[in-house]
Amino acid sequence: MKQVYFFGAGKADGKSSDSKLLGGKGANLAEMTNIGLPVPPGFTIATDSCIHYLKKNKMPLKLKQDINVAIANIEKIMKYRFGDINAPLLLSIRSGARQSMPGMMETVLNVGLTSKTIPGLIKLFQDERFVYDAYRRLIMMYADVVMEKAEGVVIKSGQLSIRQELEFILEETKDNNNIKYDSELSVKQLKNLCLLFKQKIKFKLGKSFPDDPQQQLWGAIEAVFKSWNGKRAIHYRKIEKIPNHWGTAVNVQAMVFGNLGNKSGTGVAFTRNPSSGVNKLYGEWLINAQGEDVVAGIRTPNPINDHSKNKESISLPSLESKFSKVYSQLIKIKDILENHFGDMQDIEFTFQNNHLWMLQTRKGKRNGRAALKISMDMLKKKLITESEAIHRVSTNNLEEIMHPMINPEDEKTHTILATGLPAGPGGACGQIVLDADTAEILNTQGHPVILIRNETSPEDIHGMHASQGILTAKGGMTSHAALVARGWGKCCIVGCSSIIIDSENKLVHINGVEFAEGEWISLNGSTGNIYEGKVNLIKPNLKKDKIFSDFMQLCDQYRTIKIRTNVDTPEDAQQALDFICEGIGLCRTEHMFFDPDRITAMREMILSKNEKYRKQALMKLLPYQKKDFYNLLKVMSGLPVTIRLLDPPLHEFLPQTEEQILHLASEMGITSKKIYDRIESLHELNPMLGHRGCRLGIVYPEITIMQSEAIFEACSDLISEGFNPIPEIMVPLVGADKELADQKSVIIKKAKQIEKKNNIKINYLIGTMIELPRACINADKIAKEADFFSFGTNDLTQTTFGFSRDDIGSFIPNYLEKDILSDDPFKTIDIDGVGELVKIAIAKGRTINPKIKIGICGEHGGDSQSVKFFDQINLDYVSCSPFRIPIAKLAAAQSALSL
Ligand code: PEP
Ligand code: MG
Repeated sequence: MKQVYFFGAGKADGKSSDSKLLGGKGANLAEMTNIGLPVPPGFTIATDSCIHYLKKNKMPLKLKQDINVAIANIEKIMKYRFGDINAPLLLSIRSGARQSMPGMMETVLNVGLTSKTIPGLIKLFQDERFVYDAYRRLIMMYADVVMEKAEGVVIKSGQLSIRQELEFILEETKDNNNIKYDSELSVKQLKNLCLLFKQKIKFKLGKSFPDDPQQQLWGAIEAVFKSWNGKRAIHYRKIEKIPNHWGTAVNVQAMVFGNLGNKSGTGVAFTRNPSSGVNKLYGEWLINAQGEDVVAGIRTPNPINDHSKNKESISLPSLESKFSKVYSQLIKIKDILENHFGDMQDIEFTFQNNHLWMLQTRKGKRNGRAALKISMDMLKKKLITESEAIHRVSTNNLEEIMHPMINPEDEKTHTILATGLPAGPGGACGQIVLDADTAEILNTQGHPVILIRNETSPEDIHGMHASQGILTAKGGMTSHAALVARGWGKCCIVGCSSIIIDSENKLVHINGVEFAEGEWISLNGSTGNIYEGKVNLIKPNLKKDKIFSDFMQLCDQYRTIKIRTNVDTPEDAQQALDFICEGIGLCRTEHMFFDPDRITAMREMILSKNEKYRKQALMKLLPYQKKDFYNLLKVMSGLPVTIRLLDPPLHEFLPQTEEQILHLASEMGITSKKIYDRIESLHELNPMLGHRGCRLGIVYPEITIMQSEAIFEACSDLISEGFNPIPEIMVPLVGADKELADQKSVIIKKAKQIEKKNNIKINYLIGTMIELPRACINADKIAKEADFFSFGTNDLTQTTFGFSRDDIGSFIPNYLEKDILSDDPFKTIDIDGVGELVKIAIAKGRTINPKIKIGICGEHGGDSQSVKFFDQINLDYVSCSPFRIPIAKLAAAQSALSL
């Protein structure tokens, strides 16, 4: 088994498609080398070796030998030797999993610096300051990554980690010498710092910092392997659903130095703007620095070009103006990379004495807006195909575009409290929390929270995930908070320097105003503005968004499954039509009765003691129903409208308060005692399995008669006015074919009557919901009676699992935590159970009635994973709420293209 893959001098053992073996970073370093870009030579230790190491707790056989050969190859290219006292080669050791896990795993730079190699390196570069700067960095990183984290040293609460201790010493040295930036430290100060660092390490960890290059190298490699199973890496994998068995690769590379004085520097950039998608290099750089300085937010980074300037960096020098040759080389590389990879890239680079080196390229994380624009721009330029353009945008991206924004009108009425960098999209409003654990707890209690930190670290990941928005005092647009938030499409503001956190007292000062934890603030992630209190949020207007509508049209071109919507009002139907849909898949007629002027008649109907009174109450409801259906069918003229007959457990409509009971008693002209008695007699122990669904119409046919009359009369009126109503009448909760036959005969009788009376022909269908396991098993029999099936997967999930859909909150989180279920089955269809039943029903139904129309109208119709499943099992349509239509369309198109 090959374990070590070399790259350097224009040739590499690996390539970009080897990311499974080499990790994303390693595979792309190989690819960049192969396409002739300047990459420092190095090698990648394959992910298999990591897995082997973690399983067996020892290095794989022959790894040492292979690594020695690879180091010899680097030495040949670089003309320096690892551990040599005259011309020492230094190495960087970095992790790199198959999928990028920003900041989750470890890096050690400048490996190979020892008391013996330091003088040689000073002579070589004629720069003592640079060498001690590199050395203090090595000591700090090594102590943190190898000597503390990899050794599993536990930091007790209230104690500092070794990195924090060393950073404290660094800050103290700067303060004592009146120095602001690390780059101003003198040789003497750096030397002293190295000494203090080593003393502290010995004192705190009980071991000396190793003075041997081989020991440093192997310590660092092992630590990277172990970092795969570090706490934060495991947590991140859980959130991102990355399998534990992948392991990480290790990239070992010749060091190039961005901290070699004022002709050197380092930076990170995106080949296009990751927030807007604009096709311009967008990034940050620092002079005389090593890569970690840019992301760590130690100094405010400089903008790469004018396009990358923000309020904080407006007067700072750009790379374009300071190092125009390096910049124009970068621009050329931007095009080469985008043409080669066919996607926006996120790059890291260093220049040593004006010589540019590429240290990384990977697919750039972007927000939803940028994902859409980049995809459509690249399609226009023929860099990618239509299919690729559709797959480039995730359903999460779309969801994010449809996310709330700060209402600009309401925003005007608030004064800006402070401003930071606009790192994540949209708006957020929530209660202040100052640590990740509290954020997570409050979120589970249903509170919207805004997490405020000095800067975030991967340890904060769970709290960031749980928050509506993230606000940091430090850091730039490529800081940890910014990267993670953008990836999630979460509102985020970073680098707000007017924030002072007082963790001890759970207080934060923002621009001098004091807030306690729990108080409300609002963030505008698009401008960086922060407001005291609550600012209203609004949904974005996608009607005028040309890129969005072009993209949706592209999805429509490819998807084969139809998309309908679940609505009960003409207004919502119009909203759905704006997103362009192919009909209504579910109108829950009971929702039409919640209006105050109708609920009383509805209650009268439910509480009537006999048919006569029930009919009287129903006659009061008829005109409302007719008008509702008229309006709905009018808006949807020419498109099918599935109207479900009354379904819900009746207790949902019973009067609850004394006031409601008194009002009803006077309306019905009976005593309130009679009402109480009637409520008592209607009481069911398990209403979800009680007198609901078609059982209502079977026991009280007058309900079905009234609803049918309302539908057909509305149709008659519309037809005479030149409209084209297409009602599809749906009988709910059918388990036996005869239930459907019973209701069907009532509906047909009413249709015939009205057709005859008005001398018209109405174009209607009669079908049923399939939401009980018995209905699935008997779908062949039911199909004889039905023009269509619509799977009510909410109830079908409830009745298949035996989980009450209203009570799962008490146990589902544990099921997910323990991996008993991988998803909440009421959100994402349970393919193995509910999905199997659906397949059985489709097969049986279509055998008997090949023309039967089959759709789904449960909540799963708006869940992307579920939509893909329904598409693959050949349903005719999915139906979802209006704002899920774009998500369903994209999922359907992606599914059609993946077949
Ligand atoms: C269903 O059960 O999936 C459904 C759509 O009906 P309701 O949610 O109204 O019970
Ligand atoms: Mg149902």
